[in-house]
Amino acid sequence: MQFDLRNILGDFVSIFFPKECACCGCALKYQEKYICIACDYHLPYTNFHLYSDNDTARQLWGKAPIEEACSFLLLQKGSRVEHLIYQIKYNNQPFLAEYFGYQYGLKLLESERYSELSAIVPIPLHASKLRKRGYNQSAYFGRGLARAMHIPLREDILVRQRPTMTQTGKDRLARYDNVEDVFVCKQLSVPVGEHVLLVDDVLTTGATIVSAALTLYESLGCKVSVATLARAR
Ligand SMILES: [Zn+2]
Repeated sequence: MQFDLRNILGDFVSIFFPKECACCGCALKYQEKYICIACDYHLPYTNFHLYSDNDTARQLWGKAPIEEACSFLLLQKGSRVEHLIYQIKYNNQPFLAEYFGYQYGLKLLESERYSELSAIVPIPLHASKLRKRGYNQSAYFGRGLARAMHIPLREDILVRQRPTMTQTGKDRLARYDNVEDVFVCKQLSVPVGEHVLLVDDVLTTGATIVSAALTLYESLGCKVSVATLARAR
């Protein structure tokens, strides 16, 4: 059997530089990395990090003591962002979450509201789901944020102690019941009283974020702010 070196090299390169735009699926040009210029231009960036009174923050008001909250992108059905999230969660491309996390971290550095953070805490998956998927996309998003903001990523603080059933199809109240008391904090790694940034891939009802924020606040006395890659609307 003869090996074609070009094919092998091409496959090797494509692992690190996918040839399709993660948002629209078009063929990427040589200088484009992960997303095409058109998608980059048209992505619905929220700029929520520039003001406290935004839709993501408002959605969480009164449910948990959250200092600041923001989402990088708006997620609509059939949109570029939906395609992107699918690639991240279900098509084994978590590095896209890290890439967008890094871009968002650079933006958050411009806002003084996010200037006193001491750790990035991703929403954890339950161990069984982590085994099945092979990675936690929220941790990848957090890793990008951490790298841009020069803040440690702390995956050792929050633990999901039981798997949750899928949230899809549940009404708003049922979603809150479904994730109540689902998280615990590891007491060995306590940033008592510090300000942490809780991060997740997509904000839908906010039930998961609220549950995790309450756990951090009640167990560790943390100040908690929130950043998500996308916000469903
Ligand atoms: Zn594109």
